[in-house]
Amino acid sequence: MFDSLSDRLGGIFDGLKRKGALKEAHVTEALREVRVALLEADVALPVVKDFVAKVKEKAIGQEVLKSVTPGQQVIKIVNDELVAMLGAEQSGLNLLGVPPVAVLMVGLQGSGKTTSTAKIAKRLTEKDGKKVLMASLDVRRPAAQEQLKILGEQTGVKTLPIIAGQQPVEIAKRAMEAGRLQGFDVVMLDTAGRLHVDASLMAEVIAVRDATSPLETILVADSLTGQDAVNVAKEFDAQVGITGVALTRMDGDGRGGAALSMRAVTGKPIKFAGTGEKMEALEDFHPERVASRILG
Ligand code: GDP
Repeated sequence: MFDSLSDRLGGIFDGLKRKGALKEAHVTEALREVRVALLEADVALPVVKDFVAKVKEKAIGQEVLKSVTPGQQVIKIVNDELVAMLGAEQSGLNLLGVPPVAVLMVGLQGSGKTTSTAKIAKRLTEKDGKKVLMASLDVRRPAAQEQLKILGEQTGVKTLPIIAGQQPVEIAKRAMEAGRLQGFDVVMLDTAGRLHVDASLMAEVIAVRDATSPLETILVADSLTGQDAVNVAKEFDAQVGITGVALTRMDGDGRGGAALSMRAVTGKPIKFAGTGEKMEALEDFHPERVASRILG
């Protein structure tokens, strides 16, 4: 995760630290390199500009350059601005409602939606002691409902029994009803995806949303698609309203552009990072930890 960006920034800041006394020109030069490194990591241009401007404003302050360790101070400012860019506040799932609370999982096909649904359900069950029911509303892909059922068996999380021929809204209502009658805390609804955002996908997701009033609507997006992931999130947020993002395939993402731009562009926090195919490969997204991982 973030390997190449981390290497680049490490090199830039090592240079700054070695200099000892820092002049404004040194900082300006280093920030020019940081700008290039962020753009090469596929961070959205407006986000990069804003970030560099903020760091510059703080770093060029007299106290920083005159301090005993100016290089360290600049790195600290970069760290703080990275955390701010990633969304400083901690953000788990909001499940504070009358149970069963609905969690709607949305996103494009292949983004890792079904996998993430099961990972999050397992996490809620094992770590938070919640009673979770999962239901697949994907009636388009023949094996989709079966796939979630198998993941349910693997993780020990209950899935709604499959009834052939039911439509997504009917399945969603049945899931909520089963959740109520059987005392579940959380009902996770795995919706169908498409290769691209289209009107019928959105109409279906909106109908399910309106039938279930989810407290959380999590957009699942593939970090390897970079800025496309951010654009998909923006689109879903505009049309459906999302409360957060699960960014998958972070294990293979050496650049990190989607992770770094998501919050700043969409205003919505990344809540989870998918870091592998296994059911355990899910991390809470902690801005401070991510920033320190990037800065090494
Ligand atoms: P969906 O169509 O959005 O439901 O996508 P799936 O959940 O079926 O995932 C598609 C593929 O991506 C599967 O082979 C998953 O194992 C894989 N996958 C999902 N999340 C991750 C992740 O975080 N890392 C890696 N390496 N693979 C993932």
